[in-house]
Amino acid sequence: MSAPRSRTDPAAATLLLLLLLQTHLSAQAPVNGSSWSYIGPDGERMWPKRYPFCGGVFQSPIDFHNNILQYDSTLLPIKPEGYNVPLTEQFVLTNNGHSVQMSLSPAMSIRGLLSKYSAAQLHLHWGNQDKQEGSEHTVGGRHFAAELHIVHYNSDKYPDLQTAADKADGLAVLAILIEIGSFNPSYEKIFSHFQDVKYKDQKTLIPGFNVQDLLPDRLDEYYRYEGSLTTPPCYPSVLWTVFRKPVQISAKQLLALETALYCTHPDDPAPLEMVNNFRRVQEFEERVVSVSFREGFVLSIVLISSLSTITLTALAIWLLRRKRSKRIQDEQGVVYKPAGTKEEESIFAKA
Ligand SMILES: [Zn+2]
Repeated sequence: MSAPRSRTDPAAATLLLLLLLQTHLSAQAPVNGSSWSYIGPDGERMWPKRYPFCGGVFQSPIDFHNNILQYDSTLLPIKPEGYNVPLTEQFVLTNNGHSVQMSLSPAMSIRGLLSKYSAAQLHLHWGNQDKQEGSEHTVGGRHFAAELHIVHYNSDKYPDLQTAADKADGLAVLAILIEIGSFNPSYEKIFSHFQDVKYKDQKTLIPGFNVQDLLPDRLDEYYRYEGSLTTPPCYPSVLWTVFRKPVQISAKQLLALETALYCTHPDDPAPLEMVNNFRRVQEFEERVVSVSFREGFVLSIVLISSLSTITLTALAIWLLRRKRSKRIQDEQGVVYKPAGTKEEESIFAKA
């Protein structure tokens, strides 16, 4: 990325990251058969014990607030390719015990980044019916109702998601903030299958549809930063694109998301509802989020620069007037003196 994302030297940061990855790789618990959750004894405070990266650097999600945002004119609109999947193809929808996840075809990709990133899966994060604030990223401290993540891997460099997941340039995730509003027929293409994946490890098939319809209209306005997976093992390998404009789903659709699913198997004597599956925002110091849009947060910067311009102009005018009046005084003085030489006159003219 051309945008400054850190005050540290990028090469040194990458080296440090690679070293950290190598050092901790042996300590990593396997991705499958993981035991972590959002609450209880395996809750997120305990994640770093089993998954050291979760207590490390470049962690996600984060809050987007004015003093970390920096406009970057080189950020181009996101261009999804192959997102319109024909009806004849099928996605696998799975309850993985942490979220509801839909497999995606590697024929789907996003362009415009340094490498080509192919799609692997999408999944959601949400709150609960009493507190409908389940987005992972927040804007000015404010949660949205839910958040969709479309996970891509660097297919120019790596053969699959698994291989790319722990590489510094391995993943690119598109994040869509979700708010309550009008009914969303595209999201319903996923939500209408929840009854078939109520319990952990259940799967069902969904006919192909245009996945781009899950994205907001404005693909040119987004927050961009380097972060991590928001679930263990929290690898700091994700180039995040969080769209500025949220999409809407109806209150009824959100309720279905918040109440339909369980983290546990169907025969579990202590069923656990799948709610509040979002990670809390992480510290974000000494780093910058690049933004592709100017309005809003840039206003204050524009205002400051306008004020500076006005002050400087006023100062320049005052200096000019002062010099001019001095010159008039000097010229007036000349009337009562003998006429100066040509050289003296030219000196006055320059003053
Ligand atoms: Zn996610």
